[in-house]
Amino acid sequence: MPEHVIAPPTLAELPIAGSRQRFPVRRIFCIARNYASHAREMGMDAERAAPVHFMKPRESLAQDGAAIVFPPCTELLHHEVELVAALGAGGAEVPVDEALDLVFGYAVGNDLTRRDVQARLRKKGFPWEAAKAFDGAAPIGAIAPASRVGHPTHGRIRLAVNGKLRQDGNLAEMIWKTAEIVSHLSRWQQLYPGDLIMTGTPAGVGPLAPGDRVRCEIEGIGTLTHDIVTLSKEARS
Ligand code: MN
Repeated sequence: MPEHVIAPPTLAELPIAGSRQRFPVRRIFCIARNYASHAREMGMDAERAAPVHFMKPRESLAQDGAAIVFPPCTELLHHEVELVAALGAGGAEVPVDEALDLVFGYAVGNDLTRRDVQARLRKKGFPWEAAKAFDGAAPIGAIAPASRVGHPTHGRIRLAVNGKLRQDGNLAEMIWKTAEIVSHLSRWQQLYPGDLIMTGTPAGVGPLAPGDRVRCEIEGIGTLTHDIVTLSKEARS
């Protein structure tokens, strides 16, 4: 075995609901504007034009129960509750009718977004990356295996901040279904086991502040709870 000049990165992983086994995370893909109600609140058309995708680094993953530090370089951090598909198998150019065979299970995620930064970047036609990729930007709950929960096509998807309901949609509103999304992404690059796909958010996105407790739930899939905190002066120095 060759010696590494620095320590290799630690494995990013998620728990499996009801099991002691763990799910190793490879990449985090995200789909934009997949609910008409959210596209409209962002001032966009809701149409079945090809889905728009982007990525978050694996290092942005945060666990259920995490205290997520309010990110620097933003004054408007938004929540976006999303269904997350976790791939147990890979593939390229996968047909839609075979795409669900790749999905190991599902989880609840929050696509945290620097909304002010996204608006500035979008206006200039720049990439969204700085708005979407930062430490703690992808809190995701335990994965419920499809062998137990099936492949959900409907069910309430909700997010509450400090007990107050902010987002209340239904998976049935998804413009692009999970199978179509997996098939689409598999045309852009090889997909691998361990890849996660955040499938878009319903209407009701809004701001978060330090001290907030965020609770997300998808009917039949599970829950995700996390806090937003301020980095202490001691931790910063
Ligand atoms: Mn999103």
